[in-house]
Amino acid sequence: MQNDNMKYPKLLEPLDLGFTTIKNRSIMGSMHTGLEEMDGGFERMAAYFAERAANNIGMIITGGIAPNAEASAGGAIMSSEEEAAKHRLVTDAVHEAAPDVKICMQILHPGPLANNRAMVAPSAVRSRIARHAPNELDKAGIRKQIDDHVNCALMAQKAGYDGVEIIGSAGYLISTFLVRKTNLRDDDYGGSFENMMRFAIEIVEKTRAAVGEDFILIFRIAAMDMLDGGMSWEEIVTLGKALEKAGVTIISTHFTWHESAVPTIATMVPRAAFTSVTGRLRKEVGVPVITSNRINMPDVAEAVLARGDADLVSMARPLLADSEFMRKAVEGREDEINTCIACNQACLDHTFMGKLTTCLVNPRACHETILNYEPVTDAKRIAVVGAGPAGLAYATVAAQRGHAVTLFEASSEIGGQFNLAKTIPGKEEFYETLRYFNRMIEVHEIDLCLDTRADVAGLKAEGFDHVIVSTGIKPRTPDIEGIDHEKVVSYIDVIKGVRPVGKKVAIIGAGGIGFDVSELISHAGVSGALDRDVFAAEWGVDFENHPRGGVTGVEPKVVKSDREITLLQRKDSRVGAGLGKTTGWTHRMTLTRRGVGMMNGVEYVKIDDDGLHILQGGQPVLLEADTIIICAGQDPLRELHDDLQKEGMSSELVGGAFEAMELDAKAAINQASYMAAAI
Ligand code: NAP
Ligand code: SF4
Repeated sequence: MQNDNMKYPKLLEPLDLGFTTIKNRSIMGSMHTGLEEMDGGFERMAAYFAERAANNIGMIITGGIAPNAEASAGGAIMSSEEEAAKHRLVTDAVHEAAPDVKICMQILHPGPLANNRAMVAPSAVRSRIARHAPNELDKAGIRKQIDDHVNCALMAQKAGYDGVEIIGSAGYLISTFLVRKTNLRDDDYGGSFENMMRFAIEIVEKTRAAVGEDFILIFRIAAMDMLDGGMSWEEIVTLGKALEKAGVTIISTHFTWHESAVPTIATMVPRAAFTSVTGRLRKEVGVPVITSNRINMPDVAEAVLARGDADLVSMARPLLADSEFMRKAVEGREDEINTCIACNQACLDHTFMGKLTTCLVNPRACHETILNYEPVTDAKRIAVVGAGPAGLAYATVAAQRGHAVTLFEASSEIGGQFNLAKTIPGKEEFYETLRYFNRMIEVHEIDLCLDTRADVAGLKAEGFDHVIVSTGIKPRTPDIEGIDHEKVVSYIDVIKGVRPVGKKVAIIGAGGIGFDVSELISHAGVSGALDRDVFAAEWGVDFENHPRGGVTGVEPKVVKSDREITLLQRKDSRVGAGLGKTTGWTHRMTLTRRGVGMMNGVEYVKIDDDGLHILQGGQPVLLEADTIIICAGQDPLRELHDDLQKEGMSSELVGGAFEAMELDAKAAINQASYMAAAI
């Protein structure tokens, strides 16, 4: 494809590396998917990457592959020709799909995060997030780890990769040599920074010597590790220059360790929040640099490149969310991009739970050989009742396949629960999902009937072949004495702003919605997701002065809520334990800093003029609340389906109407997409 798109001149500009060219500035960043380890995973990985390659991405970096057994957390290893041969499926598929697309394999040595008994590190320092301490490497051990990295790169070359990315960030092995709290050595590999970076530099020098000059060698550094006492700016620059001298082709910048207490990819992080750090490093080194994190639309990528922050932009999750991201950008169809909302719910949360990665907004991600939206030969007339996440996903897939779809929505806008989510500070990305579905309704010519409550008589009269009931949920009303008291309000009314909220608030139910409501009513001022200065102040990051780790000595500026808020649940488990693995801690930390109280193991007794009476540990407690918000889950709304069945009409339930318990947008979109692919 030519760079004839004037909207994204920088993004679509080729990058000449001397011995080869990357055809544009977009990179699909590394993301472990779980396909690497599963039976038949390489076939599926081949299809997953080939689809992205065919749609104009410039370069792909695979998920992390371990160079040896001590680096493996039960995951894939590349240490032999036999293992290299398996990867041929992937490299051949990508190069066949698009001969001008590069694919590099990421070499990931987790070091003290491998969570196996043989795991190694420069010193026996247990990570906050690891089960046990690693084994300290002796000199021979260090030489072995270096050799294994080199061998891994050689095997990747044999497997047909165009290059490798060596990860030296995130709290993985190489990065633990670079930071004083994890490197306590006093030999050639510890003490001075020159010694501390020796391990990284020797890996690069020896790898370059082994693979030759015409092989892409990317090194990923933590350009701001968000660690108290982490790397200083001077050390990062010293490392960057030394890596360049040692023979890297490209430096990739990363912004955290897994154990850091600053969110760097969650939806509450502003778009492109960290690229200025890459920009500063770019001025210091002579090789191209990659930036990343929360770059989820082409205009964001273009702006980053235009202001000189980077030579290349890495997008991992946005390429899960939409395999055609770059094609749509080139063709001026960016309003059709299914945007990554940075929820982590189906990608990183899955990874950390040992489940296969996919995407909340795109269940086809990593399922390219299983879930396909084939054109239909026998088009049906389908009514979809309810334009929430499930109804929208069903209507889009069915219409895309060629069915004639009419979408009924009782309210004046599409979106259902997404319309509540988008108003929560830090969840503004849901606007993009609504933009996407609105556009899909136009593209696939779905007949949208807003302000229309579909009923059996009307549906029957219209003669639809099939009805999809995606009528969603109704909030659950708990059986508590005094529940009809005037101070009791539903979360829907609070989020919509139709009922006032007082100064002393009790929230019944601490699921995702209880947390969302707490965020909404404890928040003051601009959303941090929309303003990098606000975000930096809230999380204690100093972008200007870049103290060690970006955070050392910087106190988060917390605005305490002027409300007295208590979030309650009956379960004895920790409040918020059911939230996403990679994002739950950010919500708990934010609310705790704002002074929101959290109580578990409570029993609700009654509500009266005095407030909410509960028992905790069998002891009576009165919460003198003037507002009590009910966030106690939902029940399905299925009446229409029952009535259709009585009339003998063909209908199916989907989303919250099918199963409200534990329902979220991920499950709703997933279920709807599979159903619509099958009809
Ligand atoms: P939920 O996650 O099921 O939580 C419902 C809460 O209400 C629980 O804390 C539960 O705790 C309590 N509860 C249930 N029945 C009750 C009763 N009869 N009386 C009093 N309390 C009761 O539901 P949700 O918060 O409404 O969220 C709905 C779905 O959307 C969930 O799947 C959620 O994960 C998803 N969501 C996700 C996010 C996110 O950020 N990932 C945000 C919003 C919503 P006890 O039973 O212990 O009291
Ligand atoms: Fe993005 Fe959420 Fe999809 Fe992950 S699951 S790729 S964060 S939209």
